[in-house]
Amino acid sequence: MPFLKPMQFLGIGIFCLSIGSTKSFSQQASTNSLVIQHVNVITMNDSNSVIPNASVYIAHHQIVSINGAYPKNATVVDGKGKWLMPGLIDMHVHTPTDAGPFGPKYPTQAATLFFDLQDQMLLYIANGVTTIFELSARAEHFGQRNEMAKGAVIGPRMALAAMIDGGTGQGRKVNTPEDGRQAVRSAKAEGYEFIKVYAYLNPATYFAIIEESQKQGLKVIGHIPDSFKGKLKEAFVPGFGMVAHAEELSNYAKDYSEIEAQQMASLLKQNGTWLSPTLITMESIAAQVKSLAPLKALPSLAYVHPLLQSKWLTANKYNKMSSPENIAHFEQYTQFNLQLVRACAAAGVPIVAGTDAGTSGVIAGFSMPDELALLVKAGLSPQAAIASATKLPAQWLGMDKQVGSIEKGKLADLILLDDNPLNDIQNMSKIAGVFVNGQWVEKNKLQKMLQNLAAKNHATKDQYDWKTITSPKK
Ligand SMILES: [Zn+2]
Repeated sequence: MPFLKPMQFLGIGIFCLSIGSTKSFSQQASTNSLVIQHVNVITMNDSNSVIPNASVYIAHHQIVSINGAYPKNATVVDGKGKWLMPGLIDMHVHTPTDAGPFGPKYPTQAATLFFDLQDQMLLYIANGVTTIFELSARAEHFGQRNEMAKGAVIGPRMALAAMIDGGTGQGRKVNTPEDGRQAVRSAKAEGYEFIKVYAYLNPATYFAIIEESQKQGLKVIGHIPDSFKGKLKEAFVPGFGMVAHAEELSNYAKDYSEIEAQQMASLLKQNGTWLSPTLITMESIAAQVKSLAPLKALPSLAYVHPLLQSKWLTANKYNKMSSPENIAHFEQYTQFNLQLVRACAAAGVPIVAGTDAGTSGVIAGFSMPDELALLVKAGLSPQAAIASATKLPAQWLGMDKQVGSIEKGKLADLILLDDNPLNDIQNMSKIAGVFVNGQWVEKNKLQKMLQNLAAKNHATKDQYDWKTITSPKK
């Protein structure tokens, strides 16, 4: 039976209209001089130390000191009984960008469908996600990143990977090693920091892309192209830095056995390849193949742009595949994915948290606590699950001097929690507030903005029928 990969359904550049925004972050307290008092600090430093009842002083976007001196006029945030941890890094997202027009265009015509960036980024911030890794980055994402860098929008830091595919696939399409190498050099020249390889590359081109990426100092993450069918091992060449989904391996399973999972884990281990399993993606897809009722009932669906809600609920390609065979097939994938995570963890393969947010049913930000819970379900300790979304991805992205742990001199991307996530990973949802680049945004503010967004989405939903918008009458 054909297995359809999540990305095949994503489509590059999903669409929406913009109508005002939830902007109001600019009224937040100044980013200067802030002290969190009496807080338990989950440092995620090299020794994983937890510092009880500490004061953390933040100024100019940075952690200036822990239990050090701070000015008397610093704004005080009471951390008594609370837990401070590093902001989360989602290693696999797809943020929609402005798009359209659909149908005939004329040369000077710009996009006709606009996403409000603050509305999109609020979902990450509200869940403590302060860095995202965009895995099919386009020119528009540089613009989005700049909006956040200049403070017009509060949102996560963005790392950008250019997607390179083959055949009639997605993104930059190359089918010869020469073209593959040139695509890498072009991507680097355009400012991309990472390369994502995709499903329809032929082996020779895939090898050339990875080799050229190494030469150019770009790390490679991606899918294992279908052209490696029957020869999975050959895809593991030096420089293939990270597998982007557990099902990239599950695709190659024959009997879904423990031994098979271990063999796959050892391929990654021997090659120094990391794994971003995106368990929530397959979990969500499997659920959608079965029924759309759970997605419809998801409270956080209200925060998704109405056009995407319409797409997910009326043109859901996973649900269209619904059959007893497919339901069983996807169930098996979710189970084997958990086994793979266990096997990889046992083999010492670094595992990082990614959600594939933007894929049908996978909601930006809100899918992150779900992913962490699934990693724990797979067998990781809460500590290891948190490391998978903080210090480990920071290391892979080359940002570990800036983010990923709470240490003097690091950027102040932090989450304040009401309860200890090391005891129970479900406590990741008990957010009292988030520090985004040193800016304190408390729970009430986040909740109010989410409510406003849900109301706005609801009020405008009639304008966003997926079919009418994406297939206009000529
Ligand atoms: Zn993806």
